[in-house]
Amino acid sequence: MDSADRTARMPSRKGKGRYMVQDIAVAGAGIGGLAFATLAAREGRRVTVFDQFDAPRPIGSGLVIQPVGQMVLDVAGAGDSARALGQKIHSMLGHEATTGRRVLDVTYDRKGGPHYGLGIHRAALFDCLLTAARDTGAEIRPDHRVSARDGQRLIFANGTSDGPFELIVDAAGAASPLSPLQSRPLGYGAVWGTVPWPDTRLPTDRLSQRYRAADRMIGALPIGRLPDDQQPLAAIFWSLPADGHDAWRAAPLDHWKAEATALWPDFAPFLETVTEHDVMTMARYTHGTLRTPVSEGLAHIGDAAHRASPQLGQGANMALLDAYALWSALDRHPLDEALRAYVLARRWHVWTYQVFSAVFTPQYQSDSRFLPKLRDHILFPVSRIPPVPGILSRLVRGTLLPPLGSLHPRQP
Ligand SMILES: Cc1cc2nc3c(=O)[nH]c(=O)nc-3n(C[C@H](O)[C@H](O)[C@H](O)COP(=O)(O)OP(=O)(O)OC[C@H]3O[C@@H](n4cnc5c(N)ncnc54)[C@H](O)[C@@H]3O)c2cc1C
Repeated sequence: MDSADRTARMPSRKGKGRYMVQDIAVAGAGIGGLAFATLAAREGRRVTVFDQFDAPRPIGSGLVIQPVGQMVLDVAGAGDSARALGQKIHSMLGHEATTGRRVLDVTYDRKGGPHYGLGIHRAALFDCLLTAARDTGAEIRPDHRVSARDGQRLIFANGTSDGPFELIVDAAGAASPLSPLQSRPLGYGAVWGTVPWPDTRLPTDRLSQRYRAADRMIGALPIGRLPDDQQPLAAIFWSLPADGHDAWRAAPLDHWKAEATALWPDFAPFLETVTEHDVMTMARYTHGTLRTPVSEGLAHIGDAAHRASPQLGQGANMALLDAYALWSALDRHPLDEALRAYVLARRWHVWTYQVFSAVFTPQYQSDSRFLPKLRDHILFPVSRIPPVPGILSRLVRGTLLPPLGSLHPRQP
């Protein structure tokens, strides 16, 4: 489509913003891309979301949307539907398997307050965001694998292109072809799977974990249900060295089940429906942050701008907060200023969480013998001394620092 066509098809200005960037391309219909598209399109902008998938679909198992991310879902109109499908998580509890010691104990609200994490299947969250995006008039174009950009045009892998767009939003995730971020591969990843929530004594409002030093980590996260299905689900995970997947797959499944169950007998019922290796999918993690996640006419959000292990459960929240901040900045400033305002609004929050993630991850996923001892004998006891529990609650909620700087929440 050429620019004359595009101009003819521009919708009328319905938004309240004085500085309406009218024509926006979003690369990637993931968590950040759909949230941004939903927010931006409802003010009358023309928003086109390009994704590589042949039909809209999510990939992966479950995750936790923290209170700050839930706020963004609410503003985007996807909060109620997400809460209807997800499961409230009030705490995270982890034990060392060989000693039985409690080494992680974080609650969202020590005094019965209103905060909780929302455990949710990625497909359920995707469904809520896709519905919200379509309802606000964003156009979703599957089967468009972005390979590069040429100025304000997007180039696709099949050789076609589209544009020019006033703004390109790179929400193409950890493998974005538009992002210059070179992230550092982490030594450990994990296999993840989704299973029916079994008959178990584990509570449905808690993320439960077991560790052996830092070279084994097992987890069970309640994630609610899928749309059109009443079956409550769990996301389960088992830590593996980044290069350990082939060896894990080559060994009989029963050997793994026996090891996992020996470390954590309560995990056994979660494994009953894992009948082949393919039930579990390997996820490898990287860590890195773009110093300046914008350039002329381009903004990177979510994993395209910063990547970390899921140890703090903040990646989706970061993508949602980025989406909110960029939308809010575009509503308040002309494009160039808006991009600067977006960077400033998110800089310290992103930086702080990236530092915490880099510090915490090797305590739970590494070959270190020293770090898990530090975790169990010094850091965990310190974490019980006020005011540290309150600080840790704010850390998981995503509010250790103001997440949006001067672009604080406001109703559109
Ligand atoms: C196993 C695992 C568990 C996690 N658990 C949590 C958790 O508990 N809490 C949390 O907050 N975060 C968690 N995260 C992190 C979180 O999933 C990511 O940080 C988040 O999904 C990033 O959102 P995004 O919008 O940037 O990218 P994504 O959600 O990954 O979306 C990227 C989209 O871009 C599309 N795309 C990619 N390349 C192209 C291309 N070339 N052209 C067109 N489209 C493209 C993809 O198809 C996809 O739809 C977890 C991550 C993993 C791997």
